[in-house]
Amino acid sequence: MNKDVKATKINFENAVIKDLMDFKNVFWINEDKPSFEVADKTAMFSHADVKDAEDRLARFAPFIEKAFPETESTNGIIESPISDISDFKKELEDHYNVTIDGSLLLKRDDTLPIAGTIKARGAIYEVLKYAETLALREGVLESKDVNYEIFASDEFKQFFAEYNITVGTTGNLGISAGIMGAKLGFEVVVHMSLEAKQWKKDLLRSHGVNVIEHDTDFTLAVENGRKESEANPKSYFVDDEHSTDLFLGYTVAGSRLKEQLDKEGIIVDEDNPLFLYLPCGIGGSPGGITFGLKHAYGDNVHCFFAEPAHIPSMLLGLETKKYDDVSVYDFDIDGKTNMDGLAVPRTSGFVSKLMSDFFDGGYTLQESEAKRFLTRLIDIESIPLEPAAVAGLPGPAYLFKSKEGQAYLKENGLADKMKNATHISWATGGSMVPEEDMQEFYNEGAGL
Ligand SMILES: *Cc1c(COP(=O)(O)O)cnc(C)c1O
Repeated sequence: MNKDVKATKINFENAVIKDLMDFKNVFWINEDKPSFEVADKTAMFSHADVKDAEDRLARFAPFIEKAFPETESTNGIIESPISDISDFKKELEDHYNVTIDGSLLLKRDDTLPIAGTIKARGAIYEVLKYAETLALREGVLESKDVNYEIFASDEFKQFFAEYNITVGTTGNLGISAGIMGAKLGFEVVVHMSLEAKQWKKDLLRSHGVNVIEHDTDFTLAVENGRKESEANPKSYFVDDEHSTDLFLGYTVAGSRLKEQLDKEGIIVDEDNPLFLYLPCGIGGSPGGITFGLKHAYGDNVHCFFAEPAHIPSMLLGLETKKYDDVSVYDFDIDGKTNMDGLAVPRTSGFVSKLMSDFFDGGYTLQESEAKRFLTRLIDIESIPLEPAAVAGLPGPAYLFKSKEGQAYLKENGLADKMKNATHISWATGGSMVPEEDMQEFYNEGAGL
C-alpha cells in the first residue's frame, strides 16, 4: 500500500462512500491496518515522543498544582476518573435490541480539571511546551531539573507577558489554551466566530483573555490572525490542524488509562480485549489517545473513532485515502451537526495519514441518536455531557449489531472472548456547560 499515490478520481461507486452520502449509519473497519509491531516501525512518532510528553507534564505538575488548586488531589496531574455505566448499557441493549457482551465504562474527560473537555490534554500540553521552550531559550529557566513551581512566580509571569499566544476557534481549544496561557502570564488572543457560545467568551474574558469576535468571514479572519502571529517572533499560533505538540499531548492518556485500569484490576490481554470509542473532530484527540493506547496495549486494544453522519471527515479521508485532500462538501454531505466539537469538514492531513495504520475502525451516528443518548445518560446515570461528547456512547451496540462489527470480531478471533471484554466510551466534555444550556440540550433529546 503506497499512501503517496493519490487516486485521480473519487470513486462515488464505493459502497461505504455511497452510504456516507446517504447519511446512513456506517460501521467501518480499517482493512488495511497492519499489526501494531509493523505500524510502530514506520510511524512518524515513537514511544520516545510519548515518553517525552509524559516527562514534560510531570515536570510541570508542581506548577499546575500551585496555579490550579483543583488539581491538588492529583498532585498537578490533569486526569479524569472512569465510571461504570452498566445501567446505561441496558438502555443501549434495549434501544438497539442487541446483547453487548463485556462491561461498559465511561472515561470522564467531561470532568477534566481546568477546562472540562478533552482539549485540556492537548492544548494545555502545547502551551506548556511553548512556555518551557521559550524560558529555556531566553535563559529565565536554567534547566529542566529545577522545580517548575517557579513558573507560577511573578518573575516568570512578567517574562511571558511580553509574548503572545493566538488561537482561532469556535470553542473548546480556545478555552484550554486560553486559560493556561493567561495563567502563565502570556498575552492571549482568541479569535471566535459570532455563533460561538456567549458563555465561552465570558469565561475567557474572566481569565483575562482578549476575545475577538468576527461576524463575517471567520475562516478568513483566523487566516489573517495566523499570518500576523507567524510574522511576529514573539507570537505563537495554536494550530488545531497541523500541530504535532497538540497530538503528542493527547498520547499521554494511553499509559495513564493503563495505570487506572491496572488499579481497578481490569486485565487487558489477548483473552481480555479492550474496546475504545472516541469522538472525532479534526482527529487529534482520538488519534493521539489511540496512539498512546497502542503503545500501552499493542493489538489487544481496539480503537474506533466516532463521527456525526452529517460530517464524517476522518472516515472519508481514510476510505478514499485522500486524507485532507477531500472535504465532506465534495460529497454533497451538508456538514450540519449539533455536535459542535466534531464539526470539522476536512480532517487533519498528518493525523489521518498516521492513524490509517493505527485506527481499527470508525462509525457514524445520527443527530437524533446523539440527542437521545445525551438525555438518557442524564436520566439513567446523572451524567451531563455536551453534544460532541456522547458520540462514543453507542459504539458497543454498533459493534455487536452491525455485520461489519461481527465480522471484525470473528476475523480477529475475538468472538468467544467478548464476555471478558471491556468497552470504554470516551466522554469528551460537559462540566463547563452552564445549566441553562444543558437544560436546552436535555429538552432536545427528551422526546426522542
Ligand atoms: C475537540 C473535541 C473533540 C474532538 O477532538 P479532535 O481532536 O478535534 O478530533 C471531541 N469532543 C469535544 C468536546 C471536543 O471539544
